[in-house]
Amino acid sequence: MRSRLAAAGLLNVADKLDAGLRLDLADGVRLFDAPDLLGVGWLANREREKRHGAKTFYNYNIRLEATNVCVASCLFCAFARLKPGDEGAYTMSLEQAWDKLRRRAHQPLTEIHVVNGLHPDLPWGYYTELLRGFKRIRPDIHLKCFTAVEIAFFADLYGKTDEQVLLELMDAGLDSLPGGGAEIFAERVRRKIAHDKCGSDRYLEIHRTAHRLGMRSNVTMLYGHIETAEERVDHMLRARALQDETRGFQAFIPLAFHPDNNQMRKLPAPTSSDTLRVHAVARLVCDNIPHIKAFWIATGIEVAQTSLWFGVDDLDGTVQEEKIYHMAGAQTPESMTTREIERLVRAAGREPVERDTLYNVVHAHA
Ligand code: SF4
Repeated sequence: MRSRLAAAGLLNVADKLDAGLRLDLADGVRLFDAPDLLGVGWLANREREKRHGAKTFYNYNIRLEATNVCVASCLFCAFARLKPGDEGAYTMSLEQAWDKLRRRAHQPLTEIHVVNGLHPDLPWGYYTELLRGFKRIRPDIHLKCFTAVEIAFFADLYGKTDEQVLLELMDAGLDSLPGGGAEIFAERVRRKIAHDKCGSDRYLEIHRTAHRLGMRSNVTMLYGHIETAEERVDHMLRARALQDETRGFQAFIPLAFHPDNNQMRKLPAPTSSDTLRVHAVARLVCDNIPHIKAFWIATGIEVAQTSLWFGVDDLDGTVQEEKIYHMAGAQTPESMTTREIERLVRAAGREPVERDTLYNVVHAHA
């Protein structure tokens, strides 16, 4: 393997990893530029197996997007509608949202994942009641709700600090934050594709605060549009730097850009090989974030399976009724059963482990 890594120009990176040294911006860019994708994957797989062996985590979850009304206009978004009443705009009543959980309350769900558009007119009590109602229906369910972008929006709209918003939501039942809204931290790109949502520093500051208050969270990266390799690695390094401080991130989640029905539809979707490489580089650069997740809805099922040999150890979960990617043209199913996830993990030569949101083992399948 050393000669292969040498031929690919990756020997220095491999030696650094062997010596327990951290990769820097230049190393990360080299991993993106190296033509030998399998060499990059081999290095990432070694790090994955050091941490998790063959284990591949997933959870029994549902997703819910209570409204797609959003005052922002991110260029990559096919989900949002600017105003109530616009074609395709919807906002669930609290009863409708609770009913989504009620109808599945017999399932052994461990998590509900809620993200929304930035609705300008809903009262603050809508969000706190939403969470309280979920806990009334299933007191044991983990509420992973509201991106840092939503937290910032709530703070500005309702005249609170970010910390106050987090504390009031925690009081209502919030257990952790999802990683959405990170997009790309580099200001050049963020200004172009997501100019009217909260900036990178505030996104990271909200996660810092959430971690200080005792919550865990994830961090995402939207890739495959106008970002450069440097900007991808810079994004990973900013997440890694916060993780050095707080240790509150559980997973790094690359999210593939999907080009249908949005303002960037002239761009091609990222290729499978790019998807595998992004996940592999994330495993190598984000050395302090325990898990690298392939969101199978976005990568496609076959690529998600292959990614389990490219640094990935987590496949998200059963999902059920995903909207954000499907409105942008995702061809994947909207849900998988736990049995289907287990089968695809096993078929990839890995060992499925059902986890809860905090990575406690619910069910290990030997
Ligand atoms: S990505 Fe989020 S903030 Fe941006 S337009 Fe879509 S729903 Fe709104």
